[in-house]
Amino acid sequence: MIEICGKCDIKSMLPEELEVFLKELGQPGFRAGQIFSWLSRGCGSFDEMTNLPLSLRETLKSRCHLYAPNQIDRRSSSRDGTVKQLWELYDGNAVETVVMRYSYGDTVCISTQVGCRQGCAFCASAIGGLVRSLSPSEMLDEVLYAERDSGKPLSHIVLMGIGEPLDNFDNVMRFLDLINHPKGRGFGMRRISLSTCGLIEKFDRLADNQLQLTLSVSLHAPDDETRSRIMPANRGRGVDALMEACGKYMKKTGRRISFEYAMIDGVNDSEAQARLLAGRMKEIGGHVNLIPLNQVEEREFRPSRPENVRRFQQILQDSGVNVTVRRRLGGDLDAACGQLRRRVLHDGNAQV
Ligand code: SAH
Repeated sequence: MIEICGKCDIKSMLPEELEVFLKELGQPGFRAGQIFSWLSRGCGSFDEMTNLPLSLRETLKSRCHLYAPNQIDRRSSSRDGTVKQLWELYDGNAVETVVMRYSYGDTVCISTQVGCRQGCAFCASAIGGLVRSLSPSEMLDEVLYAERDSGKPLSHIVLMGIGEPLDNFDNVMRFLDLINHPKGRGFGMRRISLSTCGLIEKFDRLADNQLQLTLSVSLHAPDDETRSRIMPANRGRGVDALMEACGKYMKKTGRRISFEYAMIDGVNDSEAQARLLAGRMKEIGGHVNLIPLNQVEEREFRPSRPENVRRFQQILQDSGVNVTVRRRLGGDLDAACGQLRRRVLHDGNAQV
């Protein structure tokens, strides 16, 4: 059982666990289904659960933590309809979610931690380090409330917001169980992507779960010198070990991995790096997503020049590597992970 403020975090419980919990309270089994159905719609107060007896609502209030996030900022892009929201959590911390509109449907990008301890040199989320990990219920609410705000069903979820999902492994796995549960939101695993900076020691456990989600690996450099410079998570692990772990994961799960590559001017966009990356991708059969770097005020890095992105892409394509250049959405919105949180916190509108 997950506890928040010394109480049971009821929104993080699966129906079968709820059933046991309610049985202990002397309640019939069907109450679990009723409660799970409320929670899977984002319900933030027992008073809203009008089909439960008053006495049960009072017991649950005294035993359980239940909260709904409070929207403290919302910005929408006039260019492409991207919506970025900042949510205040029960303890005054804040995380952001982004809804992006693609031709195939709306995608929500959720945070998995408040801050991040991985320290990537180009990323806004890393500034200030990790504050805490999110509970499964908090991640669930990010999706449910983004969906409520958007007014229509979301088609994809990406775990690419603030935080490192594999550094919050158990809570992320439980969140996936909750969002995917047929008695709840029933969100298809194949429509979910999880992005990691490459905590390879967790790959085996992830593969063992045989989830049908897409794993994205933030590669950003094909050589150890560059990758260790911009991604401390590479130190002590290395690109060779990462590729080996990815190969093993693909073999075990039968699922392809997509590799993220944020193009940074003069850092990771040379012809030699394109050729090295092509070699690694051909060996492993990975798909490369080139992303123009989102410039973060506090960081010295600049996005690659468009002609260098094109040259890089061409080298990969000429080697037969599957490559796409991701469209930049929400560029007018502080769209890089953690940028909105930092901006609003700096303006003094929320606590850290
Ligand atoms: N910690 C996870 C997921 C969160 S970051 C990971 O590292 O994958 C989601 C993606 O955004 C990662 O690929 C990350 O490297 C990338 N990213 C972070 N800051 C960025 C920036 N300023 N511009 C472009 N991509 C960025």
